Amino acid sequence: MAITSVVDERRIFIQSLEGFVPDGVKASVSMLRLDEMHPLISGNKWYKLKYNIVIAQTTKAASIVTFGGAYSNHLIATAAAAFNAGIPSVGIVRGEQDENKLNPVLQQCKEMGMALQFISRQNYTLRDQDIFLDDVEYRYPDSYVIPEGGANLAGQLGAGEIADFISDQYTHVLLSVGSATTFIGLRNTLPAHQHLYGFAPMKNGTYLSKEISSRLFPLQNKNWELTDRFHFGGFGKLPSEVQEFMPWFDARFGFQLDRVYTAKMMMGLQEMLSEGAFPENASILCIHSGGLTGN
Ligand SMILES: *Cc1c(COP(=O)(O)O)cnc(C)c1O
Repeated sequence: MAITSVVDERRIFIQSLEGFVPDGVKASVSMLRLDEMHPLISGNKWYKLKYNIVIAQTTKAASIVTFGGAYSNHLIATAAAAFNAGIPSVGIVRGEQDENKLNPVLQQCKEMGMALQFISRQNYTLRDQDIFLDDVEYRYPDSYVIPEGGANLAGQLGAGEIADFISDQYTHVLLSVGSATTFIGLRNTLPAHQHLYGFAPMKNGTYLSKEISSRLFPLQNKNWELTDRFHFGGFGKLPSEVQEFMPWFDARFGFQLDRVYTAKMMMGLQEMLSEGAFPENASILCIHSGGLTGN
C-alpha cells in the first residue's frame, strides 16, 4: 500500500556546524535537518506516524484518535498527516480549554479538521487504560488509536528509518528524547558501532532507560546512553540562558532550534565538548527533530 507522503524528504540534508566546537577540542559537529521537510510536521513525528497512518488506512479506520498537551507537536503532526490521508482525526487534549480561544497550535489542528476533546489532567492520566480506551471506542466507533507521542511499535519502526540518512562515518548520534520512541527505533536500526546519545529535557528523565532497554533488540542493546543533566529547570521551562542561546545559534548557523528539545540538547553538547566528554576526533551528528511550531 502506498504511503501518503505529506513531507518532502528531498529537503532533508546534513549541515556542518563550523565553529560550534570550542577552541582546542578536536571533534566535528553536524546537524541532520529533519526540520526542513514540512512546516507543521516535526522532523521525527512524521516517521513515527507513517506506519500508523498505513494501519489506519488498511484497516479502514473511521478515524484516528490520539492524545497530547495543548502545545503538542505530535497533535499537530497527526492532524496534518491524517488530513492528507483523508482520514478524520480526533485529538484528546490534556486540560480544560476555552474552545473559543484556542492557542495557535490547537487552532491549526482544528483548521486541519481535527476534532478536539478536552479532558481534565486527572482523566488524562488514565489515557492508556482499558476503561478509558473503551470510552474512546464508544465515542468514536471503529477508530484507530495512536498513543501519545506516537509511542507504539509502528512508531518505533518508522522512526528507525531516520537511520537511512545517517552514514557510517559518524561516531556519535545525538537526539533529544520525549517518549523515547524515536530513540528506540534508531538504536534498533543504527549499526552497533555508532554511539546513540539521548538528551532528556525533563527532570529525572533517565527513568526512560528501563523502558528503552526493554524495547531494544538484544544485539543492539549496547552503545547508548541517556542524560538528563540538561533540562535547564525542567520540561518546557525557558530560563534566560536558553533564551540567549537560541538567537545566538540562529544567527551563527542560520536556522532555529526549538525551545523544548533541541536548544537544550545543543547547549548540553557544547558543555560536554568543553568538558572533554567525547573521544578525540569524534564525528558527531545531531538530529534536528523539528518542533518549531512550538516556538
Ligand atoms: C516529540 C519530539 C521529540 C521527542 O521524540 P520522542 O520520540 O517522543 O522521544 C524530540 N524533539 C522534538 C522537536 C519533538 O517534537
